[in-house]
Amino acid sequence: MGMLPFDVFEQIINRESPADIVYEDDNYIAFRDIAPKANTHVLIVPKGPGLVTAKDAFEDNVNIFGGLFLVANKVADIENLEGYKLHMNVDEAGGQIVPRVHFHFLSSDYESPL
Ligand code: AMP
Repeated sequence: MGMLPFDVFEQIINRESPADIVYEDDNYIAFRDIAPKANTHVLIVPKGPGLVTAKDAFEDNVNIFGGLFLVANKVADIENLEGYKLHMNVDEAGGQIVPRVHFHFLSSDYESPL
């Protein structure tokens, strides 16, 4: 499956699509994955424009990427998880489907070969 032609996460940010929102602030939103791969599977998404894949990281926007880790810690607190896994598909060639940067925040039962 290739990259979707539209950004469903922007629709969630704009409340045009429903989502089970776990955390939100001015710059990020975190909501439950519609097809969870673990007991806890939350997507952490920056709200700003122009961040399609992690390959859009540059020196002038690297704080936005770093902030994803701060949100992951908040989600861990909210979900009462001591540890967790983060996964990111980068670009269509890396398995990314939704064209907006996002971390997959997963509880440790996520079946990862790593
Ligand atoms: P990726 O391959 O990293 O782009 O993964 C996209 C993820 O978004 C998949 O795990 C999907 O299950 C999830 N997803 C797609 N549409 C929605 C939606 N409307 N609400 C929540 N999660 C979604």
